[in-house]
Amino acid sequence: MTDQIDNMLIDNVLHETRVIEPPAEFAAKASIKRGEYERRYRQSLDDPETFWTEVAGQLTWTQPWTQVLDWQEPHARWFVDGQTNIAYNALDRQVELGRGDKRAFIWEGEDGEVRTFTYAELLRGVSKAANTLTDLGVQVGDRVTLYLPLIPEAAIAMLACARIGAVHSVVFGGFSVSALADRITDAQSKVLITADAGYRKGAPVPLKANADAAAELAPSLETMLVVRRAGVAVPMKEGRDVWWSEAVGQASDQHQAAPLDSEHPLFVLYTSGSTGKPKGVLHTTGGYMVSAFLTMQTAFDLKEDDVFWCTADVGWVTGHSYTVYGPLLCGATAVMYEGAPNHPDWGRFWSVIEKHKINILYTAPTAIRSFMRQGDDYPNRYDLSSLRLLGSVGEPINPEAWMWYHRVIGGERCPVIDTWWQTETGTIMLTTLPGAFPAKPGSAGLPMFGIEPAILTRDGHELGPDEGGLLVIKRPWPSMLRTVYGDDERYRKTYWGEIPHVYFAGDGARKDADGYITVMGRVDDVLNVSGHRLGTMEIESVLVAHPSISEAAVVGRPDEVKGECVVAFVTPQSGMECDPAAIRAFITKEIGALARPEAIIVADALPKTRSGKIMRRFLRQIAAGKEIQGDTSTLEDPSVLERLQAAEVL
Ligand code: ATP
Ligand code: MG
Repeated sequence: MTDQIDNMLIDNVLHETRVIEPPAEFAAKASIKRGEYERRYRQSLDDPETFWTEVAGQLTWTQPWTQVLDWQEPHARWFVDGQTNIAYNALDRQVELGRGDKRAFIWEGEDGEVRTFTYAELLRGVSKAANTLTDLGVQVGDRVTLYLPLIPEAAIAMLACARIGAVHSVVFGGFSVSALADRITDAQSKVLITADAGYRKGAPVPLKANADAAAELAPSLETMLVVRRAGVAVPMKEGRDVWWSEAVGQASDQHQAAPLDSEHPLFVLYTSGSTGKPKGVLHTTGGYMVSAFLTMQTAFDLKEDDVFWCTADVGWVTGHSYTVYGPLLCGATAVMYEGAPNHPDWGRFWSVIEKHKINILYTAPTAIRSFMRQGDDYPNRYDLSSLRLLGSVGEPINPEAWMWYHRVIGGERCPVIDTWWQTETGTIMLTTLPGAFPAKPGSAGLPMFGIEPAILTRDGHELGPDEGGLLVIKRPWPSMLRTVYGDDERYRKTYWGEIPHVYFAGDGARKDADGYITVMGRVDDVLNVSGHRLGTMEIESVLVAHPSISEAAVVGRPDEVKGECVVAFVTPQSGMECDPAAIRAFITKEIGALARPEAIIVADALPKTRSGKIMRRFLRQIAAGKEIQGDTSTLEDPSVLERLQAAEVL
């Protein structure tokens, strides 16, 4: 980490004061009301034994734990000696509870095909896949890499691995050959599950061809199980490749889930790589399961009849925890949509909501800003009245995007929860429980049960209200990552070594007098202008509040006088032009001359990871007029960089 963060205070420059109360009707029906949150939150910190025993006790364990937590910093063991199986809890348990005929998944393909699975059907499908993996020689603890489109088989394969104690490593289907090969090799996977091809905006994505090329670079790989999705012709290698439909089709649909130790590894997931070399984040069984269950139930105020749609691909942690595990552990009906948000047009999400009568939508700010850019006409064409709650995850949500989401998508009737968490945290860490607290647009809010966050300086000094510093978590929680796969030293250093005795998240944040935490951006992205530390979120939030701007990213450029000056990259609202003088005047008025951009670069797009996050690392290089350095393979569209380099500086 840079010395830039030594005793850093981040200036608080955004003066967002809107407070949006939950609608009375929503609050009246909410399962956790205000006083209840406070009581349970206190208990979760003061008496964690009782708190976690009560939550974990709602799930099925084949052997009870002897101790809730064994903490040998930085290594935690939760529900020590307990045995369970997360796939059992997600499937068999729901059938036992009488949800056998309830819909577990509703899947919609990009081409409009719909497939639904009841809990009983999903259990049979997962059992078949689990038997297939065992037949292929996969054993407890073996790693299995998944490289699939967002089709039901992706969830089925994850659950099948979990059922037999194999460790899944899902690699997003948009990743390149080398990214896939690196991840297979790092995990030393013997089996890869892929598909002939996936669909993206109507065009097939050649997954099998990529997998074949990756296999050449990944010697650990022995077997490839291939799902037929697109029906395109693909070569099958004798002795290595097996069609999913044939193998799974013949397998028995009876399977007994393996009882696994609470600390048995469940999955490895490589972080999206916004900041550097991907890390294989390792999560284990019991603690992850308990946190996924609890956060799903409480943060989303889940009701028995809710149809829940998390738009994330299973390639990201959000897809693990809230597309697959969380909803199934709670016995909910979850929606999966395979394709692009703008296929065949920008109305697709709203049509999915109308068609499946979705009650809860959970998506990312990048998507919300793209929808906003297209105007209100698309959502207005659809009946969105089934929605009762909206969620946001992945980046700070700018207050303007928050307000649009609340007004246009939620009809001012749905609370909006912003949820801050990470691949490493496994599940939601900060949010405002929707029926218990008002929301403050742009602020992630309050800690989840058992989570003790703090805002510190580099030397561990706790900051006061509204002072920006480093966001840390002061004690372990059940779904905390256990290590970086194969690199425990990196785990110690990155997460527990920066600031003594706390988990350091890598983000800057501040806490207001009500305890609401606002994430100000990544610490690595903080600008230092004339001795003032500016978080990216706040300047960007003001920029996107300007009527001509759709998206914005700010970075610092070395400056002889100021240390750093602000460089703003902006994309215009559709059909509008960005006037640099007007933008500068707007920033000066809203924040002050300090944050006034020295340079403004207007472009049609910003460099984003495939999960939709802006990668400011490359923008810093462009702003400084340097060559692009570093791995661009996790970018959605690397050609954006060339266009930005060629763009006029205003
Ligand atoms: P890498 O760690 O490889 O650079 P990444 O941090 O983008 O990748 P994720 O674990 O998917 O990978 O993202 C977590 C990060 O995303 C958080 O640390 C934070 O910076 C940002 N983030 C996620 N949700 C929110 C939110 N609600 N508000 C603010 N920031 C958020
Ligand atoms: Mg990260």
